[in-house]
Amino acid sequence: MTNKFVHDFSGKTVVLTGAGGVLVSKFAEAFALAGANVALLDLNGEAAQARADEINALDIEGKAIAVVCNVLDVESIKAAKETVDAEFGGTDVLVNGAGGNNARATTDNEYHELDLPEETKTFFDLDQSGVEFVFNLNFLGTLLPTQIFAKDMIGREGANIINVSSMNAFTPLTKIPAYSGAKAAISNFTQWLAVHFAHVGIRANAIAPGFLVSNQNIDLMFEADHKTLKPRGEKIINGTPMGRFGEPEELLGGLLFLADDKAASFVNGVVLPIDGGFAAYAGV
Ligand code: NAD
Repeated sequence: MTNKFVHDFSGKTVVLTGAGGVLVSKFAEAFALAGANVALLDLNGEAAQARADEINALDIEGKAIAVVCNVLDVESIKAAKETVDAEFGGTDVLVNGAGGNNARATTDNEYHELDLPEETKTFFDLDQSGVEFVFNLNFLGTLLPTQIFAKDMIGREGANIINVSSMNAFTPLTKIPAYSGAKAAISNFTQWLAVHFAHVGIRANAIAPGFLVSNQNIDLMFEADHKTLKPRGEKIINGTPMGRFGEPEELLGGLLFLADDKAASFVNGVVLPIDGGFAAYAGV
């Protein structure tokens, strides 16, 4: 037993989906800096390769590979797993990071009103295929890679799964019913996995990032100059007791803690908010 935790993932393989993106590429770098070999899976192979090249340029122990993978296509995930197995000899930690919202599943208005302008895209105009896209990407896109990777993680010491939930899983955000529901499903599924795999040594936890500025949301938070807050950005800041957006780096401590079997060996089925207090604040 020790109370000095230095996250050391030497000899471990961490597979991350959505790793060509803003947040998960940072996660991959953090694991590599902590000694892990990392496989950056993404539908966008170029983005994943660019991020893997950046990691490999760091002159560190952990090595990075980029693998094209569609988390909604079982054959594509199986092929990605074969590549990871051949390069790194199996998976110890799976980070299900691919996810996001879609404009076709987003309303223009926060509240339904009787006198909305004609052109408003209301709840009644939401597109079924947009809602399906969001549920599939977030929920199925977490379930399918888990099915394919977790089977061979059984029996590997310290194996665990990290899912990426969101603030909207605790309390839905206005305008984005599908994304909120899909992330709530991810939190729920994280608990399900934690129970299901408890007898075979795989832990499952999630992080729930608060509001960070990224490609996905910058235009929702800021005007075109990307400096002036839009009303929604202002509301978020007012709803965050710490009074600011988070930085992607601020997710890394929680992420590494949950994934590190020396630090979190008895932590299973939690959804860790990393949010400046947003989820704790009733607004009064
Ligand atoms: P991002 O858009 O920068 O990255 C998402 C990545 O997923 C992209 O590289 C994209 O190519 C990839 N992707 C999309 N569809 C895919 C598919 N079918 N198969 C494989 N890869 C696919 O997003 P981000 O901000 O880095 O978000 C990462 C995760 O964090 C997501 O699950 C998101 O919902 C979640 N999240 C983000 C925030 C935030 O503030 N940015 C907050 C809470 C949760």
